[in-house]
Amino acid sequence: MTQTPRPFLHFVKPEIDEETIQGVVEVFRSGWITTGPQNQQFEAELSAYVGGRPVRAFNSGTCTMEIGLRIASVGPGDEVITTPMTWVSTANVILEVGVTPVFVDIDPLTRNMDLNLLERAITPRTKAIMPVYLAGLPVDMDRLYEIARAHGLRVIEDAAQAFGSTWKGKRIGAIGDIVSFSFHANKNVTSIEGGALVMNNEDEAELARKYRLQGITRTGFDRMDCDVLGGKYNLTDVAARVGLGQLRQIERFTAKRRELARAYFDAFEGGAAVKLGIGLPPRNFTDSNWHMFQIALPLEKLGLTRAEFMAQMKERGIGTGVHYPALHLFTLYRARGFREGMFPHAERYGASTVTLPLFTLMSTDDVARVVGSIDEICEQFANHGKHSG
Ligand SMILES: *Cc1c(COP(=O)(O)O)cnc(C)c1O
Repeated sequence: MTQTPRPFLHFVKPEIDEETIQGVVEVFRSGWITTGPQNQQFEAELSAYVGGRPVRAFNSGTCTMEIGLRIASVGPGDEVITTPMTWVSTANVILEVGVTPVFVDIDPLTRNMDLNLLERAITPRTKAIMPVYLAGLPVDMDRLYEIARAHGLRVIEDAAQAFGSTWKGKRIGAIGDIVSFSFHANKNVTSIEGGALVMNNEDEAELARKYRLQGITRTGFDRMDCDVLGGKYNLTDVAARVGLGQLRQIERFTAKRRELARAYFDAFEGGAAVKLGIGLPPRNFTDSNWHMFQIALPLEKLGLTRAEFMAQMKERGIGTGVHYPALHLFTLYRARGFREGMFPHAERYGASTVTLPLFTLMSTDDVARVVGSIDEICEQFANHGKHSG
């Protein structure tokens, strides 16, 4: 390589500003570091963000989904429909409440659950749908809720990646049934680890509060009762303060991500990668928060495995990720009868997808550098193969 060395470009990096760091210092100095006033403030601002709907904050965007299922009274004997193209926690929480998930394949263009297949997967035992908004791109929300209403189904939205996304101008979370967000360090808004559940009414929110901390309700100075089996899912005030500092910048974060996504499309235009048939994400600059920019590699034409491609990128100082292998092929799900060939679009995409760097601290020059490297790899390997390139 002849280029001058540049700092390694990771595929994701959180932007924590000085105001947030100072805020965290104040939380430490206040003496109240676990769930308290910051958590309350975080919930209030989250609720305001989603149009006043009730919100409870948690320590992950996984427990939120499990609690969402419990609030919807999903349990043994029921079926819950989701997609195999997601972080494994979406399906794991379905197992956690004693239900075997029902998967439907993805639409190869949006990479989200194919709503045409969703209708066919509904049986008399279906209780709920868990759609996932991969990379922050919502499904057709009108169609989703039309199907849910027609069949009397609950919807627990895995909107872990969709904080800041919209549907027809309305924020994800401000519409819909039960909506789950994640604030993991890699998400568009982070509380280091954390999550939030948006619900329909105060009864659901009260139940969520109980599930969050051992099912306990305190009254008066000294009374305590436990009437549901809750767990330990509360968010610390240190984490909530990070979340508050992030939440207040959401509009800027989303605008920056959309700008970078546009820069990706511009940079790819007419280049070697596109000529080779690389799969780009849907061009959506209105609804998606651009949580990720994912390409599908034409591996056969490239004569490389995905791991070899990722190694080539790493050699050029660029980090990439994989989101995700089709989860029904994991051992835990194979043990429940899932096999190759059941969800061909998810399997093909899962075997060929690579996530490119996209985070608010990046520049459009970084984008040009990423795409330049991909075009270079495509030119080098496409016609020659890996041994003569
Ligand atoms: C991040 C993520 C989750 C889980 O969130 P955690 O906060 O890490 O528990 C669930 N589903 C999807 C699609 C995610 O991206």
